[in-house]
Amino acid sequence: MTQKQTLVSGIRPTGDLHLGNYIGAMKDIHRLQKEYEAYFFIVDLHALTTHPKPELIKPRTRDAVRSYLGAGLDPNQATIYAQSSLAAEISELHLYLSMVMHIGELLRCPTFKEKAKQHADHVSYGLVGYPVLMAADMFIHGAHKVPVGADQLVHIEIARDIARKFNSMYGEILTLPNGMVEKEARVPSLGGKGKMSKSLGAKTYISLQDSKETIENKVKRAYSDPTRTHLSDPGHPTVDGCNVYHLHSYFSNEEVRKDIEKRCSDANIGCVRCKQMLSESIIELTEPMQKRALAYSDIDVDDILREGAKKTQESAQVTIAKVRKAIGLIQ
Ligand code: SF4
Repeated sequence: MTQKQTLVSGIRPTGDLHLGNYIGAMKDIHRLQKEYEAYFFIVDLHALTTHPKPELIKPRTRDAVRSYLGAGLDPNQATIYAQSSLAAEISELHLYLSMVMHIGELLRCPTFKEKAKQHADHVSYGLVGYPVLMAADMFIHGAHKVPVGADQLVHIEIARDIARKFNSMYGEILTLPNGMVEKEARVPSLGGKGKMSKSLGAKTYISLQDSKETIENKVKRAYSDPTRTHLSDPGHPTVDGCNVYHLHSYFSNEEVRKDIEKRCSDANIGCVRCKQMLSESIIELTEPMQKRALAYSDIDVDDILREGAKKTQESAQVTIAKVRKAIGLIQ
């Protein structure tokens, strides 16, 4: 039997995940946890770089785990843990990696520049080293694959660069990770400008926790084809022609999409009905997820994280022992 490759995926505990997060990071969970030796972890240490509020860390960590469990993450197939449960191992590895990585490259990193602009009053030492900590998360389990958005590929490149430098100094110890960018997900905002994001306001995104009524109300107000002002005007049911159709392309099945394409082009369906159909498709996705997520109490979630921590510590200790030996430290 061929050994499965290792996949490592970090989840930010930023609270209130939305449909864009689902398409970008959760919809393939069923497949990934089957195909790979998968580690899903909540990046509660990374969150300290920009969200250092003690009262939020624990509830948001639990909420993130619950959302992923609702989306189909299975603790019997994948290892689920909080990054902080590997704090000792990751911090140690991060220390060794930080001796290899050049500061200039980190300061030039576009994601650092962007975060430094967003959080100008809190540009910490940790924020500069964020990609190095990320690299430690990947190397600690010898990750072959890391699912990322296209804007995060730069972090994979930095990790590969660190691994090459480290390996050339100490031997072939660290596995070079590969970024997995699935079909670029750009779920549009309900407001029609940019991609779905919390930064544009609560009315422009649909949270995975939104109730049926909230979803219906938000979708009712969604921006649609601006050229269609009367029911008798044929619309433009394409990804670029209508924001609502663009959302249908992610959340409605082929039958619904084809029906809308035909009836909208023939001016045979109104936008109100079309939006109702979109709400129905979204609710069909979110309601079962919410039900599954709510079945897990805080105690259940903590148990899952504890169990994951146990498994992951064993794997991390093996890596640390190898690294220490290669560096020449007394064991
Ligand atoms: Fe857009 Fe649907 Fe209206 Fe056509 S019917 S313009 S696809 S909202």
